[in-house]
Amino acid sequence: MTLRVLSVASEAVPFVKTGGLADVVGALPGALAPHDVAMTTLLPGYPAVMRAIGKGRTIHTYPALLGEPARLVAAKIGAHSLVVLDAPAYFARDGGPYGDPAGRDWADNWRRFAAFGRAAADLAGGAVKRQRFDLIHAHDWQAAMALAYLRFAPPEGGRALPSVMTIHNIAFQGWHGAEIFPGLGLPDAAWSVHGVEYHGGVGFLKAGMEAASAITTVSPTYATEIRDPAFGMGLEGLVLSRGDRMRGILNGIDTGQWNPETDAELAATFGPRKLERRTLNKRALESEFALEPGDGPLFIVIGRLTWQKGMDVLLAALDHLVGIGGRLALLGAGEAALEAGFHAAAVKHPGRIAVRTAYDEALSHRMQGGGDAILVPSRFEPCGLTQLYGLAYGCVPVVARTGGLADTVIDANVAGLQAGVATGIQFDGVTIQSVTAAISRANALYRQPAQWRLLQRNGMKCDFSWARSGKAYADLYVQLVEEHR
Ligand code: ADP
Repeated sequence: MTLRVLSVASEAVPFVKTGGLADVVGALPGALAPHDVAMTTLLPGYPAVMRAIGKGRTIHTYPALLGEPARLVAAKIGAHSLVVLDAPAYFARDGGPYGDPAGRDWADNWRRFAAFGRAAADLAGGAVKRQRFDLIHAHDWQAAMALAYLRFAPPEGGRALPSVMTIHNIAFQGWHGAEIFPGLGLPDAAWSVHGVEYHGGVGFLKAGMEAASAITTVSPTYATEIRDPAFGMGLEGLVLSRGDRMRGILNGIDTGQWNPETDAELAATFGPRKLERRTLNKRALESEFALEPGDGPLFIVIGRLTWQKGMDVLLAALDHLVGIGGRLALLGAGEAALEAGFHAAAVKHPGRIAVRTAYDEALSHRMQGGGDAILVPSRFEPCGLTQLYGLAYGCVPVVARTGGLADTVIDANVAGLQAGVATGIQFDGVTIQSVTAAISRANALYRQPAQWRLLQRNGMKCDFSWARSGKAYADLYVQLVEEHR
């Protein structure tokens, strides 16, 4: 029997993306289809999403959804079955999904995503004609209130259904002051430590975690790490208390989008047996970033320039990177001080360090295809996707041993090299010493071409497609639906 699942998220590729969440939500329907799961994705009606769906089909109208007119619009775009919450007062704005064009969070984010959660609960819980679901899967705090509404204020005449809450990054919890509680339209019973109350306010992610039939996060190591205060960011107690309902399922990558043998972005496509063709991509990348040619490794970085990603430490290690004969091409945007720091490093080391503070998907492909090694010095990393793209593209990952980075890269230590299984370099703790030592290790291995090629080929042989993880989600759904019967 086909299981009908409503996936609720604030981002999905190819419609709207600020990070890895979008990649995962966009890939899940395809990953689950072979397992007899029909997935519909509910998204907020941001301008880009409304443009993508065109006219669509109105399936539900709200005169006032938490005070504003709104409607649910269904559309099929390629393989995606979408329902979009068209609520212009909440989502028809310039800027990003969460903030204004200057990057400041919208002051009414609580109301925007409470309304989104309310609509998700109505759709999943049976309030919308001809829409029936067996399970609801909410992603991150923006979708989490759906589970609280289903628990404390289900739609009239609706039916209960099992739920999954996936945490893509526990650092983002959607906490808001107590004054918002009356505006949520929840009964007083919801205001409790086992409901939505969290540290004297309302915790959206916390509320979802309390209400969910099962909680998942995006790698096995991160699922263990967030039991610890250093990673749990205040929610470690709840993670521990719900430990029996918690599991880590590794993200996959979309191998249709990310395949070096077919990638139209690359100057030269290549596979594990045609690695020498990567040189063409490397030359193209050097010229695109105006880097001097050199015989040392060309490192790349792709990602948000934030404390989480360890970018402050990397910045402090750049003199060393250049000193060993390395070069760096960086693509990322984020904290103003870090952006300025990297631009200053590029001025200090012209031809050796080059920086693009932009969001550029196509360039990220060219970098993975032409760089020698990708640096991911994250202080914490729930799963991480860029190291997986690196593995697939023969761009050797140099990563901190945390979260999904620990789960996906095999360190080139003596045992890993002797057994011929190493795929990259891992280091412990994000300090200048550990990062510079890792850069030196990468450099030493790079200068032994046979060893380096082995690392590249081993990485390219790894299967991080969605096949395994799609099955893991499908098994979880089936288990929850059976338990619920
Ligand atoms: P996070 O979700 O914490 O930002 P992930 O590694 O899980 O980190 O996912 C980041 C995703 O966003 C990857 O697909 C990465 O390639 C992409 N990405 C991040 N920054 C940029 C950028 N500046 N340009 C293009 N792609 C980017």
